[in-house]
Amino acid sequence: MKLDFSQLNKQTKKSFSDQHAVIKKVMQGKIVACEQCRQPLMLITPEQSEQPGIGCLKGCTFISLEFS
Ligand SMILES: [Zn+2]
Repeated sequence: MKLDFSQLNKQTKKSFSDQHAVIKKVMQGKIVACEQCRQPLMLITPEQSEQPGIGCLKGCTFISLEFS
């Protein structure tokens, strides 16, 4: 499984490095809390959703990822 980070850059340029850090932590199995609701962010795989990415249960944080 390979991740394409180029999509992130298009979405939000200024928080690209923040998102990259969050993705890295979640992929390593570390707990990262949503800044809005403080719920842990989860990895959503292409098997789980048509919109894979990393997000919280409430959906206030969502980082869309492209899996290829
Ligand atoms: Zn949230």
